[in-house]
Amino acid sequence: MLSWEQTPSLGPMRCCRAWVEIDLEALRHNVQQFKQHLGHRAQLMAVVKADAYGHGAVMIAQAALKAGANWLGVATVPEGIELRTAGVQAPILVMGAVNSPEEMQAIARWQLQPTLVTPKQALMFSDILSRLAPARPVEVHLKLDTGMSRLGFPAAEAVEFVRFVRPLPHLTIGGLYSHFATADSPDPTTMIQQHQRFQAAVAQLTAENLLPPRLHLANTAATLADPALHYDMVRVGLGLYGLYPAPHLQSVLDLKPVMQVKARITLLKDLPAGTGVSYGHSYIAEHPLRMAVVGIGYADGVPRILSNRIQGMIKGQLAPQIGTITMDQLMVDVTHIPDLQEGDVVTLLGQDGPHCTTADDWADLTQSISWEILCGFKHRLPRVAIEKPISSIQGARQGG
Ligand SMILES: *Cc1c(COP(=O)(O)O)cnc(C)c1O
Repeated sequence: MLSWEQTPSLGPMRCCRAWVEIDLEALRHNVQQFKQHLGHRAQLMAVVKADAYGHGAVMIAQAALKAGANWLGVATVPEGIELRTAGVQAPILVMGAVNSPEEMQAIARWQLQPTLVTPKQALMFSDILSRLAPARPVEVHLKLDTGMSRLGFPAAEAVEFVRFVRPLPHLTIGGLYSHFATADSPDPTTMIQQHQRFQAAVAQLTAENLLPPRLHLANTAATLADPALHYDMVRVGLGLYGLYPAPHLQSVLDLKPVMQVKARITLLKDLPAGTGVSYGHSYIAEHPLRMAVVGIGYADGVPRILSNRIQGMIKGQLAPQIGTITMDQLMVDVTHIPDLQEGDVVTLLGQDGPHCTTADDWADLTQSISWEILCGFKHRLPRVAIEKPISSIQGARQGG
């Protein structure tokens, strides 16, 4: 009998039913592709909001910085704190709204840089900082709305905004930025119009000798679309994870997907013709089949709307997914794949032999975007860093 002390720990590769593999070599490659594309003038902000688009924020931030990224971008204050707690020291921009005094105190405490979009917010922030002892100046980034119509102060009033914020105690303006609404469209009209508004603001600020030290404008799509949009820094998310914002931007850089999603077969069973599978019996076996239950479901990030529309990849072969995808499990038809065992690995997203499924494939099927597919993989899935060829892991079996 095993004593409790002898019970093996639940290392992800030994026992986990499902996990996300993170190819840090691919991430490094993608960072380097962007660094080369930027040349010496512009810095690279690795956007690691939403747990690095489902890849694991701390692991990705550390690897991206090591590979040459200069800044990190997050959406929320807790996301920034998570990175600081893990020991990350690079500058971190919080790109989302920061309105409460508690959030502002945390910004100062953890040396994050907030995005300010109204004079009122800047005033409140300055007040809060003046009540903290010892007072420590915080760098802030002012955001202009050039046409995204989300966060941002009207670009036409940039001079007034900067003039208001500059004299406030304990704040220094570290940057000025804006964000594109349509940079991934093949039609550049709106992007050009937004850029013109940004240029006009920059010209007015320059004329008044008020120009902040760092200007940034481009997300992945704009970074790929036009080097004139790079300014002092680009804010790249999707591209770092190896996906392209749009097909027409694919030729610019050679990017490699970083994430693979895998799960294990937890049960094999033979079903007679006519058997209904899963909730609602949305799949009925037309002939006798061998089915595998796989330990991953919509709570892990496989969208339920993909039910009966995707294929798993097992030992280099395709296995059609059958029946409704459930919260924690899904079923695949493995009738044509010999010699399977419980514990064998099913690749949902990634590469297996000649077959490859990308987040773009799932985005097409769900009428969504690859960003949303990636962010769907949440904390329940362990993130496993893969630095070496992964064949040794694919061979590993579930114990017992
Ligand atoms: C998310 C985000 C980005 C990164 O966008 P990608 O298209 O993933 O490169 C850049 N800037 C801002 C303000 C963002 O919110």
